[in-house]
Amino acid sequence: EVHATLRQGQKMEAIGNLAGGIAHDFNNLLQSITGSLQLAGRHMAQESPEYRRIALALSAVDRGAKLASQLLSFGRRQPLEPRAVHTGSLIGDIVAILSSAVGEGVDIRTTVAPDLWNIHADPTNVENALLNLAMNARDAMNGHGTLTIDLSNAVIERGGSAGGVDLAPGEYVRIAVTDTGTGMTSDVLEQVFEPFFTTKAAGRGTGLGLAMVYGFVKQSNGHVTIESKPGSGTTVILFLPRTSAETHTQSRSPEAPVVGGS
Ligand code: ADP
Repeated sequence: EVHATLRQGQKMEAIGNLAGGIAHDFNNLLQSITGSLQLAGRHMAQESPEYRRIALALSAVDRGAKLASQLLSFGRRQPLEPRAVHTGSLIGDIVAILSSAVGEGVDIRTTVAPDLWNIHADPTNVENALLNLAMNARDAMNGHGTLTIDLSNAVIERGGSAGGVDLAPGEYVRIAVTDTGTGMTSDVLEQVFEPFFTTKAAGRGTGLGLAMVYGFVKQSNGHVTIESKPGSGTTVILFLPRTSAETHTQSRSPEAPVVGGS
């Protein structure tokens, strides 16, 4: 689907520029609101009802600022700083963050294949992508269920594909994030990577999570694919290129599954 991908890219860029511009001005406004509120509350007793109203307004502004910064980073298409990332450590570090983000009702399980390769990517973006996927999983499970993160090595052969979409031949780390949630209809599945597509209630979803995941993975020369059916949960699979240093010095690992190929 070269066409769809191209159009998606152009659309994302246009919307990204627009969103980035709005977010920037919006952020300036929020900062002036914050400044005024802080000044207004300066001489108030912390327990007074007036001060509590100001604190409420400040926290609403704070939420707005978070949304604006999300839009801003989407619009800015921040340059990535890819480097060799020890995949196992990255997952170890982020599991604590993920479990506090998804709450106690979600059981997080990680399985890491032996001799897992390292990836060449921007670690902050990998973490943000996983956080986005985990939050979506939590929402789809209504806060209760199992989130499995499975990491393995994958070799894509010439002519190989992942989930029916072409992927450059090479060696990748495959990160599969599976939830036991509602799953998606094919109609929803077709649109999930579109910026601003959301089925969540107003104020709950921005529709930017998967668009950002898509953008980051593509920028990293990787690939993302989703398997989902209503009632049987969802698996989002990221393919991220392994570090080239290792590619040259290590032979192909025999336990790496071969995807596609002829
Ligand atoms: P948002 O989470 O803000 O809605 P996303 O781009 O992350 O934005 O997701 C877009 C839509 O894709 C969601 O509103 C939801 O309908 C669907 N979706 C994403 N992840 C899942 C999932 N794990 N299970 C079911 N539906 C999902």
